[in-house]
Amino acid sequence: MKILVVNAGSSSLKYQLINMAEEKVLAKGLCDRIGLPGSLIKHKTHDDRSVTKEIEMKDHKDAIASLIKVLTHEEWGVIESLEEIKAVGHRVVHGGEKFIKSVIIDENVMKTLEECIELAPLHNPPNITGIRACQHNMPNVPQVAVFDTAFHQTMPKKAYIYALPYEYYEKYNVRKFGFHGTSHKYVAERAAHILGKPIEQLKIVTCHLGNGSSIAAVDGGKTVDTSMGFTPLAGLAMGTRCGTIDPAVVTFIMQKEGLTPEQMDTVMNKKSGVLGISGVSSDFRDLDEAVKQGNERAALALEIFAYQVKKFIGAYACAMGGLDAIVFTAGIGENNIEMRSMICEDLEFLGVSIDENKNNTKGIEIDISKEDAKVRTLVIPTNEELAIAKETMKLIN
Ligand code: ADP
Repeated sequence: MKILVVNAGSSSLKYQLINMAEEKVLAKGLCDRIGLPGSLIKHKTHDDRSVTKEIEMKDHKDAIASLIKVLTHEEWGVIESLEEIKAVGHRVVHGGEKFIKSVIIDENVMKTLEECIELAPLHNPPNITGIRACQHNMPNVPQVAVFDTAFHQTMPKKAYIYALPYEYYEKYNVRKFGFHGTSHKYVAERAAHILGKPIEQLKIVTCHLGNGSSIAAVDGGKTVDTSMGFTPLAGLAMGTRCGTIDPAVVTFIMQKEGLTPEQMDTVMNKKSGVLGISGVSSDFRDLDEAVKQGNERAALALEIFAYQVKKFIGAYACAMGGLDAIVFTAGIGENNIEMRSMICEDLEFLGVSIDENKNNTKGIEIDISKEDAKVRTLVIPTNEELAIAKETMKLIN
């Protein structure tokens, strides 16, 4: 069975066509600058045929039409006809409290998705546009929505209610939702598989460390807490996001600098995090380079990040009343050897102890713990597209 996975942004759309029998990516690509001058498609097949082509794409419907053309193209195609695509799985950022798992999309679902726009005004509208575009171009193919928030909907109230007047929760749904759920779920399940134990018996802290970073406490296969909140701004200091800070700082800085709410939002989302601390870059590779050149603020940014991850691991071990495994995933978690060392340093008291030789690897699935470590520390490359495709297949079957 072949499943198309679509991740639609406001002016871009990423896709992968996956053959589920062998879990193999047949082709993947990106429609970029949708609705802008110079829109283009970048496409690559499993056997290394690739093309980058400027095509006029006025909207997401045009983008889907272009990707269908390239998927069936005689030179760059990987399928004979559209009939071979049995379903489309869509990444949807915010499912609010309405969606606790993935769903087959119908008009009722679309209506509820529209209602969730308020919660994710930047992300959900393009996701919805992507779904509409697929419905338009592939009217007979089932569409499935897979939510970033759904996996975390198992959190207990004590984890997701903020200490604000309760009416804000009731009136505006202001609460912790958490994000990166598809990734946390995927790596937690892989961890159980690697450890050869039923996930129901495991207490796992999953660390998704990328441009956006979040940590989840997964107890018995269910999220009991996670570091992101009402929005993806909470929790860890990230590439450009400030993470959790004293909320009083927000109004203080707004007054001092004369900033509007929108401007302050931009400061916290785009100008903070390790970029804000270091003044160098949001990319951890650039920070590593700067540290080598003796840049102290870059070193401080890395130290702060490691310290915050470490504190979440400790907090979540306490929240779960135990810890069997830590999982590192995403760009930094999979590839940054030094960062993994810094995070795990001095955690022996918790049963965490990594083997520096085993840790000396990038981008592969590996148990990096010392033989006798009580807690297993794993590196597991995430694969959100495959996870979305699997969910989609499960639902349409
Ligand atoms: P996103 O959240 O945008 O998907 P990623 O998961 O790709 O981001 O993470 C980006 C971060 O991962 C960057 O800080 C980058 O330094 C780091 N990273 C990505 N690939 C590598 C690599 N091969 N080696 C070292 N660091 C990497």
